[in-house]
Amino acid sequence: MPVANYEIYCKMLDRAREGHFAYPAINVTSLTTANAVLKGLAESKSDGIIQVSTGGGTFASGLAVKDMALGAISIAEHVHRAAERYPIYVALHTDHCQADKLDKLVIPLVEETEKRRAEGKPNLFNSHMFDGSALPLKENLDIAIKLLEKFQKNDLILEIEAGVVGGEEDGVKGEAGAKLYTTPEDTLEVAVRLNVVKDARYLLAATFGNVHGVYKPGHVKLKPSILKDCQDSVVKQYGEQARFYLVFHGGSGSELRDIHEALDYGVVKMNIDTDTQYAFTRPIADHMFRNYNRVLKVDGEVGDKKSYDPRTYLSLAEAATAERVKLAVTELKGAGTTLYKA
Ligand SMILES: [Zn+2]
Repeated sequence: MPVANYEIYCKMLDRAREGHFAYPAINVTSLTTANAVLKGLAESKSDGIIQVSTGGGTFASGLAVKDMALGAISIAEHVHRAAERYPIYVALHTDHCQADKLDKLVIPLVEETEKRRAEGKPNLFNSHMFDGSALPLKENLDIAIKLLEKFQKNDLILEIEAGVVGGEEDGVKGEAGAKLYTTPEDTLEVAVRLNVVKDARYLLAATFGNVHGVYKPGHVKLKPSILKDCQDSVVKQYGEQARFYLVFHGGSGSELRDIHEALDYGVVKMNIDTDTQYAFTRPIADHMFRNYNRVLKVDGEVGDKKSYDPRTYLSLAEAATAERVKLAVTELKGAGTTLYKA
């Protein structure tokens, strides 16, 4: 199917919240990783989200160019074409974009979408994250409101973050002692401010002890009940329709029961990067170690062309990543939930 349009994306998110499941949102940096996600989703009969980070976009544009917007556009254009061959819907999203990077990623991508809409073409991306978590909440929301107004006019969904995800992602570190646990007061403030923009939709990354990067099971102290407190407080104030659509960041190494509890409290999107990075690299490492004398020219020998052809090990990596995506779908209770009807 083509990439989901706004209507379908909204329907996807509604169904997930009602059905207590979530979509994996997988970070991709290349055609190979994007293809792996499409394969994994299709084999799970689940819709899902492909996302590009600032670093992923920069990487995809090439070492000589290093333009995060260009790389993100290239990946998105590939996904728009390739997704038509898979019997599921996929939405395109951009990950963490701090205030100082908006002009390099989100704004040019929204402009690209505006240009496409003017020509009667579908949006390039479906949603973008603005990460103002390093700012005081008021400043964070001031910027978010301006973006949301722009997004609403273009059928785009905004993701924001209240609280700070610990650890490190894309070279950006969550500060030590930062607010790893969002409070119901903070999220209520999000609703008060953002609900002013009529008919706009947003996703909220509320933090409940999440940490980016990889940790051994048991290391991460998640408190999913915080999400319930945040939902209870907003529903009490504004009614059921104000319930948040939540995003789970930094979930690597989480206990499955914590993940499932978070789904019950309205998590509809779970970001996955570290786990699929490892799944990608694992078979490549295996290939290199097993075929040392073939992938390298040892002792004046010539190696084995088939073994060092990047397609050989990238195909193994694509297949393994697709399997990891399938595991993510299963853990998020999304298998068989695609909206696509053949
Ligand atoms: Zn994140």
